[in-house]
Amino acid sequence: MRRKLVAGNWKMHGSLSENEALLSGLLAGMADVKAGVAVCVPFPYLAQVQSRLQGTPIAWGAQNVSQEAKGAFTGEVCASMLKDFSCAYVIVGHSERRAIYGETDGLVADKFAAVQAAGMTPIFCVGETLAEREAGVTQDVVSRQMDAVIAKCGVASLARAVVAYEPVWAIGTGVTASPEQAQAVHAFIRAKVRALDAGVAEGLVIQYGGSMKPNNAVELLGQPDIDGGLIGGAALNVDDFLAICRAG
Ligand code: PEP
Repeated sequence: MRRKLVAGNWKMHGSLSENEALLSGLLAGMADVKAGVAVCVPFPYLAQVQSRLQGTPIAWGAQNVSQEAKGAFTGEVCASMLKDFSCAYVIVGHSERRAIYGETDGLVADKFAAVQAAGMTPIFCVGETLAEREAGVTQDVVSRQMDAVIAKCGVASLARAVVAYEPVWAIGTGVTASPEQAQAVHAFIRAKVRALDAGVAEGLVIQYGGSMKPNNAVELLGQPDIDGGLIGGAALNVDDFLAICRAG
């Protein structure tokens, strides 16, 4: 039985004082949460979440990483630095990084490998744009994104990863994939992995991301192949994030 994982992606939001209010509110409401919970925060706040969350049921992580191990890469942050702050998770391949910063499937695979080499779990994002969905190539796109990681790291690497299916048209738009639309892609992802390794497929945690809110979380998280959520906007509100965590 897969344990659900609900992870907040704070994106470029927060301040020391806002974070403190959010974290203390979340910690106060965790008693009846059965799902695993994590928050992925901006780099400057890793020390804050490490000191606030260690010894609690909430794990933490980052939203990006360099594919390089060290060196003259001004402004970059490598995986071993994230490990220094006891990050459990690192998001790789978020659609904002693919679209705004030009991250390719190959680069995302390199980042995935760097995260695992440092002993952390990548939250590996895949998903199609609206144009791709309308063109009927959703499965091709998701397949291509996954193949880059499988080619570089092998299918067994997915046993130490989380996949997040995030249709780009649903991220931050308020438009959520219907439970049936999401389930169909999740089932496709699991079947694709099953064709290579049935054991890895059964254990693989596949999150849904894209405007998940308290009012749609129960139905989405009730689908057989949806094993949690990657939450953007709603992760910044204590009550909303806790309500989604409780739905998991
Ligand atoms: C995300 O950025 O990963 C995300 C799912 O955002 P939102 O929940 O705001 O759509």
